[in-house]
Amino acid sequence: MIVADLLVTGIGELATLAQGPVPRIGERMEELGLRHDAAFAVRDGRFAWIGADRAVARAVRLRRGGVRVDAGGGTIVPGFVDAHTHLLYGGDRVAELALKIRGVPYAEIARRGGGIYSSVRATRRASDPGLLASAEDRMRRMALAGTTSFEVKSGYALSHAGELRLLRLIPRLARRTGFEIVATYLGAHAVPPEFRGRADAYVDQIVRRTLPVIAQERLAAFCDVFCEPGFFSVPQSERILRTALGLGLGIKIHADEFVLSGGARLAARLGARSAEHLLEDGRPEFAALARAGVTAVLLPATPFASLTARASPGRGLVDAGVAVAIGSDCSPNSWIEAMPIVLAHAVYGARLSPREAITAATVNAAYASGLADRAGSIAVGRAADFGLFALGSPDRIPYRIGSIPVAVYRQGIRILPG
Ligand code: FE
Repeated sequence: MIVADLLVTGIGELATLAQGPVPRIGERMEELGLRHDAAFAVRDGRFAWIGADRAVARAVRLRRGGVRVDAGGGTIVPGFVDAHTHLLYGGDRVAELALKIRGVPYAEIARRGGGIYSSVRATRRASDPGLLASAEDRMRRMALAGTTSFEVKSGYALSHAGELRLLRLIPRLARRTGFEIVATYLGAHAVPPEFRGRADAYVDQIVRRTLPVIAQERLAAFCDVFCEPGFFSVPQSERILRTALGLGLGIKIHADEFVLSGGARLAARLGARSAEHLLEDGRPEFAALARAGVTAVLLPATPFASLTARASPGRGLVDAGVAVAIGSDCSPNSWIEAMPIVLAHAVYGARLSPREAITAATVNAAYASGLADRAGSIAVGRAADFGLFALGSPDRIPYRIGSIPVAVYRQGIRILPG
C-alpha cells in the first residue's frame, strides 16, 4: 500500500511519454505512452504509483491532510520542457512592434536604437534583483500554461563580466522558482557594440577568457553560437564550439534561420546536441543532421512573432529522420510565454501531427536540454511535473489553439498565479 501526498484519479487519457526511445525519431514521435482511465499517486514530490483508476483503492492510501484531485476524465501530460529560451533580459521592445508592423526594416529599427542592442543596453543597466524578478515573473506565467522545465540562454550582456553575471543568476533563478533550469552560454549572440567590425577579437575573448571560467565554475551545460551572416561565421562558430567541447560543455547552434549559412552542417560535423531555429528547408542539411544524431530544436511560433510568412520545416525534418524538439524562443523579439501556443504553431505552421508536437515539447525537448533523466515523462520515481487539461485527448491540446491547462503541478505542488 502506497501512502500518497497527492492522488489524482479519473484521468481519461494519461500521456506518460515513458518507455520507448529517447529521443523519439520518425514514426515513434507518435508514441505518447497513453494510458486510458488512469490514476497516479505522488509522494515527496515524485510519482510513486501509476495505474488503472479502478485499482486505486487497493494500491494507494492518502495520508492525513493529503490532496485528492479528480481529473474529471481530462487529459494529463508531462510538464512541458521549453528547449529554447532567452529569458534573462532587461526591459522590453514593445515600442518596436508598431515599426515592425509598418514594415520598417530591422536595420532601420537598429539605427533608431532598437533591436538586440537595445535589449543589451537594458540588460547591462538592470540590477541583479531586477533581472531575477522579471525572469521569475515570465517563468511563473509560462508555468501556468504548462511549462515546468526551461533551457535558459545568456546572451544579452555580450561582455565577459556581463555574460558571467547572467549565468551566475541562473542557479539563483532555479532556487527562487523551484523549476528545473538548464543554462546555456550564448555569448556569441551578436557582436558587441564595443567590438563592431572586430568579431574575431570578440571570439578570442570568448575562447581565451570567458569559456574557461564557465567550464571551471560549471556555469553552463551548453555553449551556443548564433551562426548567421552578419553575426558569426562558420569558422568563428566552429572555433568557439570546439573550445567548448574541449572544456567538457555540450554544444548547440542557432543555425539556418535566415539563410542556409552552414550552421546545420557544422552542427552535424561537430556532433552538436542540437541545431536550433532551422527555418531554411535544406534537405541535404536535414539528412546530415539525421545521420549525426543532432536534435532539431524548432521555434515554430517565432516566424509569426517576427511578422514573416515563413514556417518551420517540421514535417520535412521528422520525415528525414531527425529528432524534433520545440521551444518558445521567449525573448524581447519574440515574447512567447504559453507553450500551448507553440504547440499550435508546431502543428498548423510546422505541420507536425498533434502527437509529434507533444513529443517535441516533452521527451525530445528534455533530451535536447540534457534533462532526459529528469523531465519530459511521467514514470515512477520521476519528479511529479504535469499539466491537467480539461480535454478528452492529448491531440486536442494543439488542435484547440491556445488550450490552457486547468492545473499545473511541479514536484506534486500546484502552481498558482501570483
Ligand atoms: Fe534563439
